[in-house]
This record gives sequence, C-alpha cells and structure tokens, in this order.
Amino acid sequence: MRYFQVNDQCNGCLACVQNCPANALRAEDSTANRVLSHNMARCARCGNCYRICPQKAIEFQFMLENGWDEVKTLEMVYCSVCGDPVYTVDYRRTLSEKLGTQSEPTCSKHRDEVTRAAKAHFLKGRSPNMRGGAI
Ligand code: SF4
Ligand code: SF4
Repeated sequence: MRYFQVNDQCNGCLACVQNCPANALRAEDSTANRVLSHNMARCARCGNCYRICPQKAIEFQFMLENGWDEVKTLEMVYCSVCGDPVYTVDYRRTLSEKLGTQSEPTCSKHRDEVTRAAKAHFLKGRSPNMRGGAI
C-alpha cells in the first residue's frame, strides 16, 4: 500500500513539492504528463504538505497508519508428533547445512518427550554388559 495518497482534487499546483522540508516530494514533467512522486524513506511525516495543499488533496490519514507490510511468506515444517508448526523449511535447511545432519522436527512440547523415548529405546537395545561395561 502507498502511504502518501492524493485524491482527485489534486491539480498539480506543486505547493506540496515546493514546501516539503525533506525533499520527499518531486514532480517530473513530460510532454504529456506531470508525475508527482513521494519518497517514504525521506519523508518526516511532518504534515506540512497536508497543511499547505490548497486543494485539500492529500489524504494524510494513510501516512499515520501503523500498518505492517508483508515482506516474505515462508513454508512451515510441522511437529512430527502433534502437527504444530515448528519452524520454516528454509530455516531447517540452514540448520541441516550447519550441523551436517537432519533430525525429526518436533515442537518444544514434544522435543523432550522424543529425546526421552529415543534414550529409553537406545538403552533398551543395549545389553546389560554394554551398559555396565566389561564383564
Ligand atoms: S499541493 Fe495539493 S494540489 Fe498541489 S500538487 Fe500537492 S497534492 Fe496536488
Ligand atoms: S509529510 Fe512533510 S516530509 Fe513528508 S512529504 Fe509531506 S511535507 Fe514532506
């Protein structure tokens, strides 16, 4: 969404461009058009353009919105026990590359359970001699 918006009343007078203290507005004229542009990174949201516009064309309410822009959507990996989302597929790939191994995805609730079960299974599979050391 664009935060700086003007309505149909804008007639391109350039009062806003000429009075912006941050050089956040510019106008470019071609043979056929005048294009008004706004740069959010420069804008101080001071409201000067809004106050000065003789046409009341600047819809400043959008500049005051505290909205969130979606940056990226990532696919999730789910807990192998309960199906709750755990982390992203890309994060899992990064972890595997760093650790050189890939384990079953488990949520924090089931991580300990799975570790305990794996330990018990491991210990059960070992003979008493192995557990106790040399005969
Ligand atoms: S001051 Fe208002 S009418 Fe003039 S160019 Fe800016 S937005 Fe349009
Ligand atoms: S809010 Fe202030 S800084 Fe931003 S475009 Fe308007 S006059 Fe310029």
